[in-house]
Amino acid sequence: MRKILDKNLQFITRKLNYRYKFSGVYCPYCKNYFKTFGDFGASIRHNAQCPVCKSLERHRMIYLFLKEKGLVFETSKTIDLLHVAPEKCIYDKIKYSKHIEYFPLDLYPDYYYYLNGPDLIKGDITDLQFEDEKFDFIFCNHVLEHIPDDTKAMSELFRVLKKDGNAVLLVPIDKQLSETYEDFSITDPIEREKAFGQDDHVRLYGKDYVDRLAAAGFKVSAIDYWNTLSQRDRFKYGILENEWIYFVEK
Ligand SMILES: [Zn+2]
Repeated sequence: MRKILDKNLQFITRKLNYRYKFSGVYCPYCKNYFKTFGDFGASIRHNAQCPVCKSLERHRMIYLFLKEKGLVFETSKTIDLLHVAPEKCIYDKIKYSKHIEYFPLDLYPDYYYYLNGPDLIKGDITDLQFEDEKFDFIFCNHVLEHIPDDTKAMSELFRVLKKDGNAVLLVPIDKQLSETYEDFSITDPIEREKAFGQDDHVRLYGKDYVDRLAAAGFKVSAIDYWNTLSQRDRFKYGILENEWIYFVEK
C-alpha cells in the first residue's frame, strides 16, 4: 500500500514539475516545482510554505545565499557544522552529506521525534559542551529570541566557531524599533504574545540586533536579500520582503 502511495506521489510531483517549471515556484530543498507555495503564519502570508518539505521563505533565502557563497549547500568542502534547533528542511538536506560532520542540537531533543536521521544531541547554547573553535559553520535560526541570557548564548556560539568560520543567526526583528525590547517580568504566555509577538519569546529584537552580535565579537553582515533578486526569482523561490539575512564571521 505504502509503495503504491509513494508511486502515485512521485507521478503527481513529476507532472507538477513539468507543468510549473517555467511559470511556478521552486523549492531548492525538495527540488519540486509548484504553482505557488502555500499560505503560512498567524497573520497569513501567501506563497510561503513548501507543501512537500515545509520549507519557509527564510529557509529558501538561506539556501540561495549560501549556494552563491559556496558554503554548506552544493559544495564538497569538508566542514563541521552545528545546527541549533534544526529545521527539518535543512536537516533533511544535509543529514547524510558526506562532506558535512553534522551536529544537530537542541535543549529538548525529544520534541524532534519526526526527524528521521542522525539523533539530536542534547545541549544548551548558553553552555555548549564543545571545545573552542570546533565548527566551520553554525545555523541558529529563530532561537535567540527564546533565550533569556542571549549575551551568553552569542558568546558561546562565538567561542565554538572556528576563526574564519561563518554562521547564519536569524531572529524575528521589528525594524521600527531602534532598541530591542525586553522585560523579564513578563512571563505570562498571553502577555508575552502581546509584548513580543509569540507566547514563548522573551524579547522583541530591534535594529540593534547587529550591535549585540558585534559585541559578542562577530563581524556582522545584515543583508536585504530580497532586494538583490529579480521580480521573477522573488516569486519563484517565495522570498519575503523585509526579512534579512544575518550572516556572521569570526
Ligand atoms: Zn520543498
